[in-house]
Amino acid sequence: MISRRDFLKRSISVWFLSLIPVNFQGPVLRPPGARRDFLARCIRCGQCIEACPYDSLRALDVTSGGLAHTPYIDPLKTPCYLCQQRGPDGKDRPVSHWLRCGEVCPTGAIRKIRNDKEVLARVPYEMKIGTSVLDRRICLAWQYDSCGECYYNCPLRDKALRDYPPNEVIEGATGIRPYVDPEFCIGCGMCNYVCPVKEHIARSMMDRSIKLTWFEERYAAMVRNLIGSAGKGVRLPAIRVTMRI
Ligand code: SF4
Ligand code: SF4
Ligand code: SF4
Repeated sequence: MISRRDFLKRSISVWFLSLIPVNFQGPVLRPPGARRDFLARCIRCGQCIEACPYDSLRALDVTSGGLAHTPYIDPLKTPCYLCQQRGPDGKDRPVSHWLRCGEVCPTGAIRKIRNDKEVLARVPYEMKIGTSVLDRRICLAWQYDSCGECYYNCPLRDKALRDYPPNEVIEGATGIRPYVDPEFCIGCGMCNYVCPVKEHIARSMMDRSIKLTWFEERYAAMVRNLIGSAGKGVRLPAIRVTMRI
């Protein structure tokens, strides 16, 4: 619970911050369940950030003007784990009864959502963080019949991320052919996080100070080839979350 005094103090600082011009341009991925009027409701208390068991939530800094101190997700650093934990059997289990960020939000800026895969997979619009899009031209699975990390790691596998697009015949395919179903993708960013098609892997050939993990080494040669042949203007990783509109 937040005291009346703290509430007033925070309301004043929110009002003050709103006077600062917003020069923040980047896409902002909000926690799952953020309401349409999220900015009007969020009092920048940081309780959702503290409650997240995976440190998936960060606070925007003062350079973002009126958006400062509001929570966001950077899936390339830490995606949202939907408050699930994967067991040794490969199955996810909820770590709490409710998604923690919505459970603790004192103003309802983030909706309280039951932590249940069936509920999550129904994805009412306001629960969406965003939607992932996949670029087949630079996807290792589509180009080299390799990888499939996004498919295996998606918490809503076979719903949000499927192996093979529906109604499409693909000649000679043996491995995974990931396909994002926008209706079920919640935008948690796990696929972004695990996708090895990343800039620093391509640069590591020229820049010896960049150290790759064994996981990245596994895909490095293919990633360099793909990014090189795709040319300038390609957006990485091969699968990335676009913001909820
Ligand atoms: S749903 Fe859970 S893991 Fe995701 S941002 Fe909220 S508290 Fe963190
Ligand atoms: S963002 Fe990626 S990992 Fe998350 S639900 Fe969508 S397809 Fe699955
Ligand atoms: S993780 Fe990236 S490269 Fe691998 S299959 Fe998915 S989109 Fe393709």
